[in-house]
Amino acid sequence: MDVKQIYMDANALLEGHFKLSSGNHSQFYLQSAKVLEQPKTAKVLAEAVAEQIKESGLQVDTVCAPALGGLIAGFALATALDKRSIFAERVDGTMTIRRGFEISKGERVIICEDIITTGGSAMEAAKAIEALGGIVVGFAALANRGFCQRQGSPLTRQENCKLPQDVPFFALEDFTFSIYTPDACPLCTDGSEAIKPGSRGN
Ligand code: ZN
Repeated sequence: MDVKQIYMDANALLEGHFKLSSGNHSQFYLQSAKVLEQPKTAKVLAEAVAEQIKESGLQVDTVCAPALGGLIAGFALATALDKRSIFAERVDGTMTIRRGFEISKGERVIICEDIITTGGSAMEAAKAIEALGGIVVGFAALANRGFCQRQGSPLTRQENCKLPQDVPFFALEDFTFSIYTPDACPLCTDGSEAIKPGSRGN
């Protein structure tokens, strides 16, 4: 499966010269929600992640997604694994399990995001699960921004990755690309102008 092509086709991965909300520039822009716009695509991607998890032999009872970004990916993964799907959400800045979702003592939970960047939200959701007696047995995402090390990837873990090293992380693809400050941007040096993603009507 060519995951990058699927993202490109969905306009979830744009190539050009972009001005990010941080003010930095990049040759690529990843809008990971776009790839989940088509339920059939979400299903195919989630099934591929589920396959990795099953092959690893990891036993999972429940999938928990940190809202909002992880909701669709988490639900799709839970569907593919035929497991329970719950989500964590921020209440006054703290990731919390609400809405009557219960966690049994020792329940094996995998945290699922659409994309893992440094894993900050995923770790906050993991803490919420563990505070209720659950065990976080893994992390999953459709895409990995390349700071954390997914199972089977040759890329090494970066210092800013917040996921624990002794818990497996499953994802389909590494989306590594450089971010430049405007004064050090090679695309600017080449004479092109950075645009805000979406300003061309997509
Ligand atoms: Zn630039």
